[in-house]
Amino acid sequence: MSKPLNTTPVSNFIRTIIDNDLANGRYATKRWAGKPGPASVQQQGQVDQARIRTRFPPEPNGYLHIGHAKSICLNFGLADDYNGACHLRFDDTNPEKEEDEYVKSIIDVVKWLGFNWQENGNENCYYASDYFEYMYEFAEALVKAGYAYVDEQSAEEIRLTRGTLTEPGSNSPWRDRSADESLQLLREMRDGKHPDGSMALRAKIDMSSPNINMRDPVMYRIRHTEHHRTGNDWCIYPMYSWAHPVEDALETITHSLCTLEFEDQRPFYEWILDRLTELGHLSEPLPRQYEFSRLNLSHVITSKRKLLRLVQEGVVNGWDDPRMPTLVGMRKRGYTPGSIRLFCSRLGVSKAAQHVPYSDLEQALRDDLDPIADRAVAVLDPIKLVLTNYPEDGHELCHAPVNPHDKSAGNREFPLTRELWIERDDFREDPPRKYFRLFPGNTVRLKYGYIIKCTGFVKDDNGEVTEVHAEYLPDTKSGTPGASSVKVKSTITWISTKHAVSATFRLYDRLFTVAQPDASDTDFMELINPNSVSIIKGWLEPGVTAEKGKRWQFERLGYFVADRDESTPEEPVLNRITTLRDTWN
Ligand code: ATP
Ligand code: MG
Repeated sequence: MSKPLNTTPVSNFIRTIIDNDLANGRYATKRWAGKPGPASVQQQGQVDQARIRTRFPPEPNGYLHIGHAKSICLNFGLADDYNGACHLRFDDTNPEKEEDEYVKSIIDVVKWLGFNWQENGNENCYYASDYFEYMYEFAEALVKAGYAYVDEQSAEEIRLTRGTLTEPGSNSPWRDRSADESLQLLREMRDGKHPDGSMALRAKIDMSSPNINMRDPVMYRIRHTEHHRTGNDWCIYPMYSWAHPVEDALETITHSLCTLEFEDQRPFYEWILDRLTELGHLSEPLPRQYEFSRLNLSHVITSKRKLLRLVQEGVVNGWDDPRMPTLVGMRKRGYTPGSIRLFCSRLGVSKAAQHVPYSDLEQALRDDLDPIADRAVAVLDPIKLVLTNYPEDGHELCHAPVNPHDKSAGNREFPLTRELWIERDDFREDPPRKYFRLFPGNTVRLKYGYIIKCTGFVKDDNGEVTEVHAEYLPDTKSGTPGASSVKVKSTITWISTKHAVSATFRLYDRLFTVAQPDASDTDFMELINPNSVSIIKGWLEPGVTAEKGKRWQFERLGYFVADRDESTPEEPVLNRITTLRDTWN
């Protein structure tokens, strides 16, 4: 499996638990048959060669986002570090909202992040819906043993009799019906003899438990709905809290890592595993659940439901819009898999609430790309500079490193001519204090070229400056002995107008105007930044070939990627991933 780039594992409470489990030999004799299954299947397997088993269990009801990346990097990263295995498991137990489109995208982006789920010849990509038969078999066993019953109360009645944090719940009138009667009804439920909502299977635990999740939680509900994989085979579907421990156990997961909101579900998770072990369907060592805090990133929202609104209401151009915090959006924006893994490794893992500024993500991108990205010059807001003392058809080459951190990347060369594109902002008719770039009478260096002295400018009828004039100082070319003969306070970038390559640039800003768009009473749709993207025409250094997905650092401007869908070498489309420095605050 691939290792996260640039990262060394930092200890955290989960690693401490794993270290202890391994030291104590907790899983030393655990068996794995090479496929999911109950005790009877696993006992026929070998001692598991994977020292730990983790899983990443997305529900395929949307596109993965940066929050999921934390969980992906944690689960796959631990499996890598400990010689274990990490399963990709689609938690597709809810028929209404799940689709194959999401399954494909999830597989695609987890691979893109650099992880895979193969281990010792096992594919380890699983679907919870493949376990429906086992789940049902276990449910019958629990009913027969008196651990579950069919309740004929409505969902509303179940809710009303559940009690509150301060008051106990009350028993259902059906709670003490015979196991035989419950079994009969459960079979009828499965056979489609009862309408949606008419009855449910509930665990028989304790209606006065201080933990509301232990007050006879619902295990199966009736839904006459087609499922994206099992079609119409089933009309009863398991609740998450009942399905999840079974999924983990069938896959002999050792460390089941989830976010903190599942902490209150842990007693039921353990209750299910213990009962099924007692009944002989599972065997020790059982999976254990551990909770860590979710990632909250500033200026984005990471709820799939809310992201869907941005897509449906046309705020963005789809799930992979470069402003979206989805992994497909970040990929299109230009984020590298290495930068996302670096960001996640810097996040650490704990139980403390985690609010992280978006700039941390941008810094990880810079740290990942700075050592490796090719440099080039671009001009985004061009104005013409004329070197009035340079020959009309003069032409000479200038040289610059492809990457100053990497000598082996070599040099690039590009022509200097009499007319150049420079950034409009690099000239001021009336310079403010401490402005050291071009203004009449001032000298600056043309990067990799000559020192020039500004001699004048031309304005159009509207008073807009259309041309800047300067004279170059012949003996001052970079890389020649005279280069340091004249001192200047500023260096500007430029491109020969005759050779410049026309390109479209898309410059992005935060999608929301506030740090926590979904934390206040205001609807997040009213907090959208109206200027989150500007699309402009500009110029590129000749010789830059914008094949899809290629990334650069454009000098002084930031990191850019040739859009993975739209860019062509003839008509480059470049997305700015981030600026060179944090200019946002
Ligand atoms: P959403 O609320 O956006 O629908 P979810 O938590 O319901 O997200 P799942 O598909 O159930 O999405 O999540 C798969 C895994 O990713 C779970 O283990 C979940 O805990 C984890 N996960 C989701 N969001 C975050 C987050 N912000 N930080 C860390 N882990 C997360
Ligand atoms: Mg979920």
